[in-house]
Amino acid sequence: MNEAKQRVAIVGAGITGLTAAFYLQKKINEKKLPIEIVLFEASNRLGGMVQTDYSNGYIIEEGPDSLIARKAGGTKLIKEVGLEDQLVRNHMGRSYILAKDKLYPMPGGAIMGIPTKLAPFATTGLFSPLGKLRASFDLVLPRSTGDEDQSLGHFFRRRLGNEVVDNLIEPLLSGIYAGNIDQLSLMSTFPQFYEVEKKYRSLILGMGKTTPKQPKSQGDKKSVSAFISLKTGLYSLVEAIEKKLDPRSIRLNTPVTKIKKTGDQYEVYTNQGNKEIFDSVIMTTAPKPTMEALSDYSFASILSGTPVSSVATVALAYPESSIKKDIDGTGFVVSRSKKYSITACTWTHKKWPHTTPEGKALLRGYVGKAGDDDIVCRSDEEIIEAVLKDLNLIMEIDKDPEHVKITRWVKMRPQYVVGHKERVETLMDQVAKHLPGLYLAGAPYYGAGVPDCIDQGESAVQKVLEHLKEHQPVLV
Ligand SMILES: Cc1cc2nc3c(=O)[nH]c(=O)nc-3n(C[C@H](O)[C@H](O)[C@H](O)COP(=O)(O)OP(=O)(O)OC[C@H]3O[C@@H](n4cnc5c(N)ncnc54)[C@H](O)[C@@H]3O)c2cc1C
Repeated sequence: MNEAKQRVAIVGAGITGLTAAFYLQKKINEKKLPIEIVLFEASNRLGGMVQTDYSNGYIIEEGPDSLIARKAGGTKLIKEVGLEDQLVRNHMGRSYILAKDKLYPMPGGAIMGIPTKLAPFATTGLFSPLGKLRASFDLVLPRSTGDEDQSLGHFFRRRLGNEVVDNLIEPLLSGIYAGNIDQLSLMSTFPQFYEVEKKYRSLILGMGKTTPKQPKSQGDKKSVSAFISLKTGLYSLVEAIEKKLDPRSIRLNTPVTKIKKTGDQYEVYTNQGNKEIFDSVIMTTAPKPTMEALSDYSFASILSGTPVSSVATVALAYPESSIKKDIDGTGFVVSRSKKYSITACTWTHKKWPHTTPEGKALLRGYVGKAGDDDIVCRSDEEIIEAVLKDLNLIMEIDKDPEHVKITRWVKMRPQYVVGHKERVETLMDQVAKHLPGLYLAGAPYYGAGVPDCIDQGESAVQKVLEHLKEHQPVLV
């Protein structure tokens, strides 16, 4: 008797596609399932936005540098692939905001920029007296009516005023999504703030009530950082997953150009002109390639409602002695201003000491923001000059960097703009109705953080297995 194998195509080998491939392979091994995986990747390497440069003794994260520890899917995957002993938490330290050519310490008690303690806000030089007064209106303003989506900017400007938003909330929140706070959807990015307003009316009072108290002294209970990474660099997660896969299942340099439903199966076309038949498909690519591959289906155009932004990371390495003005802390974000090119900078050697050889300093700046990302496509020299101009306002660096790594992520970061949740729900309903057995997962949908993508990859595998079970092949 010949056992027919069911075939699953995974399109895109970023962390979502790799997670899907890993968990599917695991199930195949455990249950001896007659399923074959093919992982299609357009570029010549695995990992998508997860990339690490290992040069001259530095571990330079080119994309994500850490995962939120509280989202369990990330730690679970790291353990599953055997990297638990490489887990590391960041060193905690002061963080700052660059505004008016000066660094201001992050006001104590600020949760995502929302004040939960009044004294540090009253005394910071980051806001004018009028800005502080306007923010205090939050204590008396009524809650908003209606539950329709709105932009983060609209929500916070209404409650706390423009100054607190532009100088503190925007740099913190926009950085996470590389997006424009006045376009990003409240419901798809930080629905918890909407819930706080609904329950407590005032954000300041509500956040104060819902935020766990920090230990008063470091004595008996040490505060633990919220982020994890890997001592061997995040790319080691990609490599560990790769080792668990059958090398014959990985197709690099093979972009998928079209997917067509034919009966209960799918025809998957690649740029090499090949066509293969699959029983199920997991698409993990960015909005544009997904839309193009599914262009036979009009509902795929819903994805055009998800814009993408460009950013670049600029890592500059120096002997520590070249940094003439050293500042105690782990880095800074930059207030909303046309004046600066950088949007944030991490003093990586302090925040993640495992990344940097003894006696060296590793600075990692970000450039490019939604609607203002021309700089990302400028030459290396121009980018370095712009970044150093900003850094030298506060740091006094007296030598050329001994190592530079610039990584451009052009039109890669999906933006959850107002209405995102409804659009994604409509798209998923249409896909389920017209393309059963095909699943969309990854950064464009239900969370762009690495743990969110991992969760989506794992959950897609569950759906694929259920679908395949219902469509067992006829044995011949
Ligand atoms: C600079 C930067 C910093 C970040 N920092 C953090 C952080 O600190 N923490 C965090 O949690 N998240 C962070 N993120 C976000 C996070 O890295 C991403 O959202 C996540 O890695 C996206 O994974 P993905 O698999 O969904 O997509 P991607 O990584 O984009 O993978 C999609 C893959 O599909 C491939 N592809 C495209 N078209 C095709 C096609 N036609 N056929 C086949 N393959 C195709 C691409 O080449 C790519 O490999 C950061 C992102 C960037 C860029």
